[in-house]
Amino acid sequence: MLEHKDQIGQQIKMLREAYLRDLSQRIDVMEGKCQELSSTKKYEKNLAFLRRAFHSMAGTASSFGYENIGKFAKEGESVLKDIAPAERLSAEAEDTLKRCIEGLNLSLKTAKSLQYEFALDVNYFWAEPGGEKHKTVIMVDDDEHFIANISFQLECFGYKVLKFRKLAEVEKFLPQLEPAAIIMDMVFPEGEAGGADAVKRLQGMKPYHIPVVFLSRRSDIYSRLAAVRAGSDAYFAKPGRAADLIEALDGLTRTEKPESCRILIIDDDKFMADYHAALLEQHGMKTLIVSEPMKVLDYLSLFAPDLILLDLIMPQCSGYELSRLIRQVPAYVHIPIVFLSVEKNPARQIAAMATGGDDFITKPVDIAHFISSVKLRAERMRMLRQHMERDGLSGLYNHSVMKQHIRRLFLDAVRRDNPVALAMLDLDFFKVVNDTYGHAAGDLVILSLARFLEQRLRSTDLIGRMGGEEFAVIMPDTTMADAYQVMEEIRAKFENICHESVKGVFHTTFSCGLAGYPGSNSPNALYNAADAALYKAKSLGRNLTYQAEM
Ligand code: GH3
Ligand code: MG
Ligand code: MG
Repeated sequence: MLEHKDQIGQQIKMLREAYLRDLSQRIDVMEGKCQELSSTKKYEKNLAFLRRAFHSMAGTASSFGYENIGKFAKEGESVLKDIAPAERLSAEAEDTLKRCIEGLNLSLKTAKSLQYEFALDVNYFWAEPGGEKHKTVIMVDDDEHFIANISFQLECFGYKVLKFRKLAEVEKFLPQLEPAAIIMDMVFPEGEAGGADAVKRLQGMKPYHIPVVFLSRRSDIYSRLAAVRAGSDAYFAKPGRAADLIEALDGLTRTEKPESCRILIIDDDKFMADYHAALLEQHGMKTLIVSEPMKVLDYLSLFAPDLILLDLIMPQCSGYELSRLIRQVPAYVHIPIVFLSVEKNPARQIAAMATGGDDFITKPVDIAHFISSVKLRAERMRMLRQHMERDGLSGLYNHSVMKQHIRRLFLDAVRRDNPVALAMLDLDFFKVVNDTYGHAAGDLVILSLARFLEQRLRSTDLIGRMGGEEFAVIMPDTTMADAYQVMEEIRAKFENICHESVKGVFHTTFSCGLAGYPGSNSPNALYNAADAALYKAKSLGRNLTYQAEM
């Protein structure tokens, strides 16, 4: 793996060297054009050339870490920005241009004499390229160095990048390609918004929408609007951080469908309940009917609904009582409750709402009103829940939600008599990582483990951050033996990932404790067994997976 890291270092070095060589030539040509600017008849053409040259250099130099070159290029660009095509430069502007070229030459000399002092701040970790889950993206940019730099980093995160420098080429090849996304520059020789015009045509070539991310030097509103009108999904100003680009691409190319909303129907009248369930299912929602109100707590935790549809008059207890009871459980304080009843008396409807209901629908229902009222509320709840349930740093389930999932999947496994496995992970000597490489680097390790777990596990496995540097993974329908194999594979791969920080490159490991059902007889017993196994893994030397004796 060290070899892998060395190869990457080597590759970065080569890219930067190639870029510097190319810069020398470019600056020479620019200098030439600048000198002959006022003395030739090709004034207009030279000016256009210089405008493009400064612009492209401003975009690329800083992403390679050559801040000063970027600075002078930007200054040159801004001098030329507001000059109309045929307009003459003022003597003052011409002087500024010449000064910029001098600055470029000087910075170039300095850059050449310095060794590779800078670290690409965007390379937090390197996943192995070519993993099973890689996706193909098209990148179009007339600056080949910029393409090389960005695509190289995307490849480290498991993307395969098809690189194009000319708009016409993408248009020619797109019919044969099935990209997961397109990364597009805005300014091309074809025009200031050449990228947007091309995207419009490209979108028309496929019967479905291709996610498009713009990555451009321009960050003005006109350019952004052109991107939106062309059907883009995200916009970043160059140089941009690879981490942001990757996050956007991950989101845009996710293939799982969003889960449908879950509605719990509590009604003692089986016929009515079936009818309402059928209406909701027809509109893409999942339903579960509870005809015995006394079982509601079990089903709430098993089914984790986004909304409760509650009948008002039932034999064992009333809907009022039940809604009050549900609201007294902290986990269900926010869940929408919609009453469904023949009650037409407004005063009694209001009394029902006062117990914690969100809406009151009278039977027989007006179908359109019923569907939209339930669906909108459930969807809003679902979004709100996603915010509340996730840990801010890693995006994984937080502690309390994960505990609920563990409980739910354990009970589910018992009910269906299927196995379930729980893994608890904790980063090894993490305090040392923080102390040596800084807290920010530590945060990125947490992030990279979160992403790594998401990449390697099945979509049915649920991952949570239990606190600090501790994670849990619950794997339904998985035996301990299978879970052991999976976790060991992940552990061995994670150990090899290089984490980058300003203070150097380093590796980290984690320890893992495993427990499962059969073997544990309650959710708590499962949790405690996995935790004890983790403790055992630590005491046996760390960087290993220990299975609880079941
Ligand atoms: P062990 O191998 O025994 O687990 O050793 P350790 O150093 O990892 O364990 P310990 O529990 O002593 O220290 C955990 C450290 O994790 C201490 C804390 O500063 C750090 N930590 C917890 N949460 C975060 C976080 O969100 N970000 C960062 N960077 N560090 C964190
Ligand atoms: Mg630790
Ligand atoms: Mg710890």
